[in-house]
Amino acid sequence: MDLMIQRDVDLADLSTFRVPARAQRLVRIEHARQIRAVVDHPELGVLPKLVLGGGSNVLLTRDPSGVVLKIEIGGMHVVQDDADSTLIEAGAGVAWHDLVCWTLRQGFGGLENLALIPGTVGAAPVQNIGAYGMELSERFDSVELVDLTTGRSATLDRAACRFGYRDSLFKGPLAGKSVITRVRLRLPKPWRAQLGYAELQRHLERAGRRDPSPQDVFDAVCAIRRAKLPDPARLGNAGSFFKNPVVNRTIRNEILDEFPEIVSYPLEDGSYKLAAAWMIEACGCKGRSVGAAAVDTRHALVLVNRGGASGADVLRLAESVRAAVRERFGIELEYEPVLV
Ligand SMILES: Cc1cc2nc3c(=O)[nH]c(=O)nc-3n(C[C@H](O)[C@H](O)[C@H](O)COP(=O)(O)OP(=O)(O)OC[C@H]3O[C@@H](n4cnc5c(N)ncnc54)[C@H](O)[C@@H]3O)c2cc1C
Repeated sequence: MDLMIQRDVDLADLSTFRVPARAQRLVRIEHARQIRAVVDHPELGVLPKLVLGGGSNVLLTRDPSGVVLKIEIGGMHVVQDDADSTLIEAGAGVAWHDLVCWTLRQGFGGLENLALIPGTVGAAPVQNIGAYGMELSERFDSVELVDLTTGRSATLDRAACRFGYRDSLFKGPLAGKSVITRVRLRLPKPWRAQLGYAELQRHLERAGRRDPSPQDVFDAVCAIRRAKLPDPARLGNAGSFFKNPVVNRTIRNEILDEFPEIVSYPLEDGSYKLAAAWMIEACGCKGRSVGAAAVDTRHALVLVNRGGASGADVLRLAESVRAAVRERFGIELEYEPVLV
């Protein structure tokens, strides 16, 4: 199988932070069998590999060594449609938002809360994307992947993927070891609006949508996201840079005693999610900058590249925010994007 190896490739436009970096080699992957060819290739096989989708959840702090595999596997189709659910499948290189729009056009609700999340279908399971009261794992059926050492294909079901909050097997033990080539999602029937997220519910009520359709929820999510989050096409960013820390009841109560205004949400397992944005604001970090990297003035979880920031600038800024939160609240914030 022929592989097109591009050399000395500028990566600035291949990640939404738009920080400078160059790849020594880059191969665009349009078919799963090309991954096997990379593994068997005399030059590429032995090199370290960086898998890249839309680049909307990575921070490039250096030039990646080895070879970048840019995943561009396409295709979306309905596998099975019966009384209880619809099973759909998409190639890893499909833009996630395009898949959400396509399902709605086919008349299948179920992904609308996850509208407008940048990036590709193949990366969606990696951090178990989530927004507006829904996580990918709730709709997930299985993935197909190719092992980057053996070139062998495998299918993993939901239990095997070990999904957690912005986490999965692919961010842990399998990180960098395999390429997800196809993703299957199961959309339940009958469709029910998932309106647990208060801001979404308020938005729909204000719009007079008391019994909303999937399209209504989609429109509301898109409107809220557009008003809240900086558009990476205009201002480089990777969405939330920090995860909301999850703590047990004792720690949450201790923090609450000292900071009664802290924002927290109870989780089903009895633990609590603390609002990292609230803590960052309370530390006075909103607007803080290092070079051209800054904490967004609208949304404290988002770090932005105002133009000309390096990955190292963004990382220094992230570390200073993390230190401020640690000092004030005794909580260690975790980064959401993958650092390269
Ligand atoms: C403005 C903005 C808003 C965002 N909002 C949200 C949000 O609401 N919720 C949320 O969860 N995320 C959000 N994100 C983060 C990001 O959109 C998601 O994490 C998305 O799934 C990343 O997709 P990607 O294709 O860009 O992945 P990339 O950034 O290219 O890669 C991310 C990681 O996944 C790995 N990877 C990528 N493709 C594959 C593959 N096919 N097989 C194996 N590994 C792979 C990469 O190696 C890397 O480790 C936001 C980002 C931005 C810029």
